[in-house]
Amino acid sequence: MFGRVADRMARARTVVFVTGAGISQESGIPTFRGKDGLWRKHDAMKLATIGAFYEDPELVWEWYEERRRNILAARPNEGHLAIAGLEKSRRVHVLTQNIDGLHQRAGSTSVYELHGSIIRIRCTACGFKDTVTAGFSRLPPLCRCGKVLRPDVVWFGEQLPQDVWRAAIGHASSCDLMVVVGTSLAVSPANLLPAYAKKNGATLVEVNPEETPMSGMMDLSVRSSAAEALPALAAAFSP
Ligand code: NAD
Repeated sequence: MFGRVADRMARARTVVFVTGAGISQESGIPTFRGKDGLWRKHDAMKLATIGAFYEDPELVWEWYEERRRNILAARPNEGHLAIAGLEKSRRVHVLTQNIDGLHQRAGSTSVYELHGSIIRIRCTACGFKDTVTAGFSRLPPLCRCGKVLRPDVVWFGEQLPQDVWRAAIGHASSCDLMVVVGTSLAVSPANLLPAYAKKNGATLVEVNPEETPMSGMMDLSVRSSAAEALPALAAAFSP
């Protein structure tokens, strides 16, 4: 499956995975593109914005509550588990655009959540933050200070948490191998990470059933699903 880059992969000591919604698709969590990109006729890309939230916080919260229930009931798949298993033999960092926590639940210990987490909430006014796994009795939920709470995620058009982003650039710029899995590479600035790795001379591998705007800069594009390709990739690393 890995042909001419197999040797370079086997020699890689530090491996960085850049992951997106596609890696969790086989855990039953919809992506934002194609037929999955609609919720009750609403475009997911438009709902995940600060504008949509202030226009109709109840609607956006209903969407997040449904996603939270689905995510909390989901289980990591063979793709997440293969990445976690690689820590036995390599230094591994995961830079994820996902908000579902499945990498951590699979056992990965170095995970950078570029777009936050759906199980955390924060106040839109007072800075209060918490982790919440139960459902809310009313939507939108209110903070003790009386203002509206929001999911602690990064919406389209918002800035990434700067400490997480700086760490992500550091890991991307110093890895030997970057594996980009299940992301359309359409969302900025996360889609800049492969360029940082390339600049450092890292080998770039993409796992995605479909072509992406950055397929041209990859050393190898594996056109299969994450749950299929990642266990094979992990096996190729075995001593
Ligand atoms: P995206 O929806 O833009 O793209 C998904 C990509 O995954 C596509 O390129 C598709 O071809 C590929 N894909 C689909 N099924 C796959 C599979 N089984 N294996 C491998 N690849 C597969 O996702 P994105 O690039 O992550 O960007 C969308 C934004 O939406 C991100 O900010 C992300 O945080 C958010 N999001 C997160 C989740 C989650 O946490 N699970 C789910 C949906 C959206």
